[in-house]
Amino acid sequence: MRKRIYINMCALSIVILVVISVFVIGLFYNMNGLKTEKQMESEVQDIAVALEHMSEESVADYLSRIATLNKSRITIIGSNGIVLYDTKEVAANMANHKDRPEVKVALESGKAFDSRYSKTLGAQTYYATIRLSSGNVLRIAYVSQTLLSLIVSLAPYYLVMCAIIVVLSLVVAWKMSNSIIEPINSIDIHNPETNFRYKEFNPLLRRISKYNDERKKNEKLRREFSANVSHELKTPITSILGYADLLRNGMVKAEDVEGFAEKIYKESDRLINLVNDIIKLSRLDEKKVGIDKVIVPLDELSNKIKEILIPVTERYRVNFVLDVEPVRVMAVELMMEELLYNLCENAIKYNHPGGHVTVKIRRDRKSIYIEVEDDGIGIPKDCQNRIFERFYRVDKSHSKQIGGTGLGLAIVKHVVEYHEGEIQIDSDIGEGTRIRVILPEGR
Ligand code: ADP
Repeated sequence: MRKRIYINMCALSIVILVVISVFVIGLFYNMNGLKTEKQMESEVQDIAVALEHMSEESVADYLSRIATLNKSRITIIGSNGIVLYDTKEVAANMANHKDRPEVKVALESGKAFDSRYSKTLGAQTYYATIRLSSGNVLRIAYVSQTLLSLIVSLAPYYLVMCAIIVVLSLVVAWKMSNSIIEPINSIDIHNPETNFRYKEFNPLLRRISKYNDERKKNEKLRREFSANVSHELKTPITSILGYADLLRNGMVKAEDVEGFAEKIYKESDRLINLVNDIIKLSRLDEKKVGIDKVIVPLDELSNKIKEILIPVTERYRVNFVLDVEPVRVMAVELMMEELLYNLCENAIKYNHPGGHVTVKIRRDRKSIYIEVEDDGIGIPKDCQNRIFERFYRVDKSHSKQIGGTGLGLAIVKHVVEYHEGEIQIDSDIGEGTRIRVILPEGR
């Protein structure tokens, strides 16, 4: 970053220098032209006045002296364009000047000024002419400095200026980069929003702060989860160990052995369910489930779930009804299966014998609705926003007794969040429960 600031500052200074130089040289060159015109006009006038009062013999001598003094060239051209006198060349060798613009105009209107590029001299040449009383034309020519020679003559100053500017830019860039970077380097990453100078950084600092909060929250959840997992695993294992120990030591009466074996089976079953749910959740957390979304036909999927749950519906003697439209959703198939399974299994488990469970699947233009409704035991109002927490159960012993792990709705919540949907719950004790999942269409 520092290097970039240096380079940018130097580049900017040099660009500014070049732009200003071009502007100044252009201005200087133009002003120089105007000044030259004025000077030459008065010069040609003065020489003309002097010539009027001079004897013919002195003319050549006078003109050559003036030309040397002013570093100019003086020519006298006859009214027919023939060169009569020139301070640089033998007049007889020179071409007819009748068509030269400055001569032509002077013959017509008394005086003229012209400037053009002379190929012979390789330079810009200014001409000032005046018609003398004799009818001849007096012309002075002045070779001006070309733009290139002007630039060449300014080059040393220019280079010194460039060097000074580069050094100054480096110093300023160094100071600036230090004053910019230092506060950034000293951001307190744990409390980013305190005492920071640049308000432009506020969105970033807010994000860091939010990230910190989330990290702390996740860390807390992770610790709680680990503690809960250990506790949840320990309980059935302790029971299994206890029963197995009694059996091993022959301390169980023959008629009670079957009951003990049943208890060991139940606890092991709970244990395996628990381990499976933990694996599912951690896979969801780490996004290890096949996360590719495909078109999932929810009607077919709910039929499959119904089949799988037949033993459960029979055990709890609950009527399980599907009222589903042929709705398709872009989703992760395995996640959708988990969602439907957990909602339906809960509706059956937390029900009364002879109770009813209805699964409705509908869609409208914006959303897809999955609704699982039962007329079972219901959920107290004050527990309704906690049942999606990991290991939370309204009635812990009841849930354990029916093989619950306390993780089913946490999995459902995860799945819904992944699909950017929402969950609504409507329940009353003794009245039953309706859980509605709304998924956005086309995701
Ligand atoms: P569990 O494995 O204990 O069923 P869940 O996460 O699936 O865990 O559910 C959390 C708790 O929410 C359950 O223990 C139960 O008390 C309550 N619950 C969930 N669904 C229902 C329902 N349909 N009717 C009544 N209570 C329910």
